[in-house]
Formats: sequence, C-alpha cells, structure tokens
Amino acid sequence: MTKTMDAECLVIGCGFAGGIIARELAERGGRRVLLLEKRDHIGGNAYDCIDQAGVLIHRYGPHIFHSNSRRVYEYLSRFTAWRPYEHKVVCSVYGKYLPVPFNLNSLDLAFEAEKASRIEGKLTETYGRERKVPILELRRSADPELTELADYVYRNVFLYYTQKQWGTTPEETDPEVTARVPIFISRDDRYFQDRYQGIPAEGYTALFERLLDHPNIELRLKTDALDLLRIDGGRIFFDGKPFSGTVVYTGPADELLGCRFGRLPYRTLDFQFETYPETWFQTYGTVNYTVDEAYTRITEFKYLTGQKLNERTTIVKEFSRAYTGAPGETPYYAVNNPDSASQYEKYSSEASGLPDFYLLGRLAEYKYYNMDAIAEKALLLGDRLIAQGGIRK
Ligand code: FAD
Ligand code: UDP
Repeated sequence: MTKTMDAECLVIGCGFAGGIIARELAERGGRRVLLLEKRDHIGGNAYDCIDQAGVLIHRYGPHIFHSNSRRVYEYLSRFTAWRPYEHKVVCSVYGKYLPVPFNLNSLDLAFEAEKASRIEGKLTETYGRERKVPILELRRSADPELTELADYVYRNVFLYYTQKQWGTTPEETDPEVTARVPIFISRDDRYFQDRYQGIPAEGYTALFERLLDHPNIELRLKTDALDLLRIDGGRIFFDGKPFSGTVVYTGPADELLGCRFGRLPYRTLDFQFETYPETWFQTYGTVNYTVDEAYTRITEFKYLTGQKLNERTTIVKEFSRAYTGAPGETPYYAVNNPDSASQYEKYSSEASGLPDFYLLGRLAEYKYYNMDAIAEKALLLGDRLIAQGGIRK
C-alpha cells in the first residue's frame, strides 16, 4: 500500500473524473497515486446503494449512462457489464403524459388530429425528419402554426420546469441548457439517441470498486483535501511539506482558492426519497413536472436498475435551489453565464499557473458535463500526462 509520503500523484475527488485519472496514472503511468475523497464513499454523484427498504437507489439523483464515444464505452466496460436500458421520460401536463423530448408522438397527444398532422408536415418541411430543434429556435419561426406549437411547448414543457431548476426563464438561461432537450421531429420516444446506453449491471459503486482496485492507488475517504493542501507563492504543500508531483483536482474551482474571487454560482438539489409498499409507483422511469408541483421530476429507480422487487419501490423527488455554500450543501450544476464565465476564468488562470496541477471534472471545469464527457476528458488528460512523464512499466 502506498504511503502518503511516497505518493507521486494526488487526485482530489473520487467521481468519474478522479476515479478514471487515478486509474490511468496508476496503471498506464505506473505512478503511485493518493486519491482523497471528502465523502464517506466512492463514485461521486454517480454513487448508488441499497436503501432501508432494500431498493437500489442513486443517492444523488438518477444517473443513466449514454455516450457516442466508443473509447469511453470500452474503457468502462473493463470494469462493468451493462444492463441495456433506454431511458424514457414523460411530462405531466394537466393530466396528460407527453413524451419528452417533445416529439411527433407528443404532438399527436397535445393537438387534435388534423392540426397535428399539418404541423408535422410543416416541421418536416422546415427542419427535416429526425432533426432536433431547440425550443428557442422554434420560437423564432414565422409560420403561425409553428409559432403556436412553439408557444405550447414553451409554456407547457420548458417555462415552469426551467424556472424551478434554474430560477430563471428559458431566455435568461444558458441556451445550451434548454438545447439539451430539443423538440425532436421523430417518433423516437427515447430520452437519448446515443449509440451506447445502459446502467452498470451491478451498479455504479461496483464499477468504481473495480476501477480503483489497483495496487498503485491508495484511497482515503472522509478526507477533505483542502485541509491538507496549501498553495503558497505558486508552490504546493501537502500535509505541511512541499509536494512536487502531479495534482489533479476535481472539486469546485472556487473552493480551491478560498473563494477569493467570490463564490461561483451553482444550483444545488434537495433529494426527497419516498418508499411505497407497491410494486410500481408510476409508469415511466422519470416523470417531469412541467406545469405544477415544487419539485422538477420524480424518478422511480427500479425502471433504471431493473431490480426485481414486489410490493416495494423507492422514488426520488428533486427540488432545486441556489447553492449558498452552507455546510452540508453540495453544488450540482454550474450556472453558466457571461458573468460566471469571467469569474471562473480568474480561478482557472490562477490554477493553470501552478506546476503540474490540473483542474478536471464538472465542478473544477465549471461545465455541464455528462458522465461520458468527464470520462473522456479524464482519459485525454491521462494520455497527456503519460506522454509527458513516460510510462514506467
Ligand atoms: P463528481 O461526481 O461531483 O465528483 C467530485 C468528487 O469530488 C465528489 O465526490 C466530491 O465529494 C469530491 N470533492 C470535492 N471537493 C473535495 C475536497 N476538497 N476534498 C476531497 N474530495 C472533494 N450524467 C450522465 O451522464 N447521465 C445522467 O443521467 C446524469 N444524471 C445526473 C443527475 C443529477 C441530479 C446530477 C447532479 C448530475 C447528473 N449527471 C448525469 C452528471 C454526472 O453526475 C457528472 O457528469 C459526473 O458525476 C461528474 O463527475 P465528476 O467526477 O466531475 O464530479
Ligand atoms: N427542460 C425543461 N423541461 C423538461 C426537461 C428539460 O424545461 O421537461 C430544460 C430545463 O431547463 C433543464 C434542461 O432542459 O434544466 C436540461 O434538461 P436535462 O434533462 O438535460 O437536465 P438534467 O438531467 O441534467 O438535470
């Protein structure tokens, strides 16, 4: 087992970013890696566990793996088999369940048949079949019936949900955020169209256990790295001594530097888990509440995990609010806008001046990354560091 004093690399945070870069440095780079995680478990926000009722839950909200990257899929497949799963989501609109992303099937449910068919023709003619159109783009359409459709989707799918999730209207929100869930001119009801989709067959935590099972990795849980790491005059000290190895930091960029340029804005979530003595609570994996309720969505885990349990099911409701940095709160979503971009730039430029120091991950890079994007970035950073440092073994 590696001793702290012997560590050649420090990796801070044990989500997909930290877990993968630790494995890459340990395995391909042949380096001794000390991996520090402040929570009492591995996996970052992808962590899953069995709850008191025996239901496998995702502690930090529903996580569905989807990717077009063959490299990422093959890499993760070293550490897990996959349960094939294609996520389907509906939104609850005044008693009707409409597929989300809003598509041609949603159109048929929302409008009377003749009008729906006319709108379908216009959508196909204007944008093309199987095309995805962001709501803010559809709203710019000059055709009165397409404008009517855009208004309907805007009001019933995006407006209230976005206000709950971000505290802002869709116009005030980063356009890339709402473009993640476009209008889809298709009959395909799946939430994602990626080539590779699924859930780790034995769960994310089991995937991480295998990922971290390497003799060059020492993992320390319940350890806030910022209690041990000090940055002074452009030099790095760890546990009171100068540290000259590689450091990869995957926590929030502002906390790294004592929030000296002000706290970066994030959204946090409150998760409300509820268990029912029923086999199923709802008829879809996720139902989005787009016109009512204080929570954004309800997810029922058994759809995702495939766990077979009768007369027991656990759901989670997600409530979003501004992150304040209070103890016990977790930042989940970066609030990307021009002001936060220039604030983030101050943190990243300071960190980039540190020797052999790298910011990696959704929090450290202040980006709205899915798991596969983080995995890919971690693999690319591994390529770079290993090319620089040579492969020892
Ligand atoms: P994290 O998973 O946040 O890991 C960072 C780790 O660093 C944490 O464990 C944290 O405790 C630790 N840390 C922070 N500071 C310190 C410190 N000072 N010392 C030690 N440790 C520290 N992506 C998908 O692809 N599909 C989905 O379905 C999906 N659903 C999501 C649902 C929700 C509700 C959320 C919030 C995200 C979802 N994501 C999804 C995104 C996914 O969670 C992220 O892409 C992924 O977790 C990012 O990995 P990471 O390692 O960058 O960050
Ligand atoms: N969105 C919405 N209504 C929906 C689904 C999504 O308004 O029914 C918007 C909302 O602004 C949300 C964004 O699209 O934050 C991205 O949704 P996604 O499902 O990708 O969010 P995540 O799963 O990452 O929370």
